[in-house]
Amino acid sequence: MDQLKHDLEAIGWNSFFQDNFTDFKEDGLIPGRISEVQRKNYIVLTELGEIVSRVSGKLRFEADEKSKLPVVGDWVALRIESNNKGTIYAVLPRKSKFSRKVAGKITEEQVMIANVDTVWIVSGLDQDFNIQRIERYLALVFRSGAKPILILNKSDICRELEDRIKEVKEIGPNLPMHIISAELNEGLEELWQYVDKGKTVALLGSSGVGKSSILNRLIGFNRQKVGSVREADSHGRHITTYRELIMLPKGGMIIDNPGMRELQLWSEDEDIDEVFDDIEVLSRDCKFRDCTHVNEPGCAVKKAIESGVLDLRRYQHYLKLKKEIEYLSIKQNQMKRVTEIARGRYISKYAKVVKKLKAVNY
Ligand code: GDP
Ligand code: ZN
Repeated sequence: MDQLKHDLEAIGWNSFFQDNFTDFKEDGLIPGRISEVQRKNYIVLTELGEIVSRVSGKLRFEADEKSKLPVVGDWVALRIESNNKGTIYAVLPRKSKFSRKVAGKITEEQVMIANVDTVWIVSGLDQDFNIQRIERYLALVFRSGAKPILILNKSDICRELEDRIKEVKEIGPNLPMHIISAELNEGLEELWQYVDKGKTVALLGSSGVGKSSILNRLIGFNRQKVGSVREADSHGRHITTYRELIMLPKGGMIIDNPGMRELQLWSEDEDIDEVFDDIEVLSRDCKFRDCTHVNEPGCAVKKAIESGVLDLRRYQHYLKLKKEIEYLSIKQNQMKRVTEIARGRYISKYAKVVKKLKAVNY
């Protein structure tokens, strides 16, 4: 058990959750908030410290829909066992949630994160500025039940600020808007009003708009370097994961969750192809059909960079997006496998018990 004890209100507890917890309290359970979902474990913040927990077999079995299992930001009812590990028995109703529909045999709802108060839609004031994309993000946030604010970043390199503001006012006249430069550390103090004690913020925005830079400014250090924890994957390799619910030094929390990146990619996936259709066209001349345009011989994309036909920055942006999509689909498959294996085990254990009972002569 981690020594870090949490004041429940500081991590978002309020009367809404309190009211929904009454029955569980009578059962001797305690409340906690999910800060990270690993392959099997859930890290839960509680008044007694950070508890490494698993969901109860019953909850896992009954969670016929993925949306019923805990996600980052959820409040849960758990019991701390004698070995200091937790067992999660229930997920409390969510005040807000980000979810998407997953097509399978049946269309399922997949919840990415829960109980976010404010979403910061981040957009860069550079050539990637895209008002339709902001509009799409806004729709996503409204559907979630959280409150949107717009952050226009990179003010230091914008020459058409007036035009940009006008465009935004057209789609959202009352949308709170903040113009900042994460690079120059300008305007970020305005953002603290959204991360009061107990408030939870999530960042949404395309790759490259400056989300990590903003986050690093707010937490006061470079998370890329210090925030990582290492966990072994199923092949014993070490993979880097991050604490996804980050406590800010002045109170409040920020959720930095791959699910948010996935949502944003998913809401963008049509325009990824569209935006990078030049690379798509170039790649038809690559020597290998499955060329990844990294170090294969006869790569037409690399050749285009060398000859100046394709901008290097644009190519790097493309690679970064592709890597993110790959990472997310791996993670998604892993999650799916873990859930299936766990359910399978539970069913076979249950079947054994039934068999034994049947063998008893009454
Ligand atoms: P993310 O992908 O949204 O997390 O974006 P990053 O924080 O990684 O930033 C992408 C790039 O934009 C980096 O090269 C940053 O240095 C740069 N950047 C971030 N904020 C600013 C800013 O305010 N002004 C300028 N000019 N560049 C910025
Ligand atoms: Zn290639």
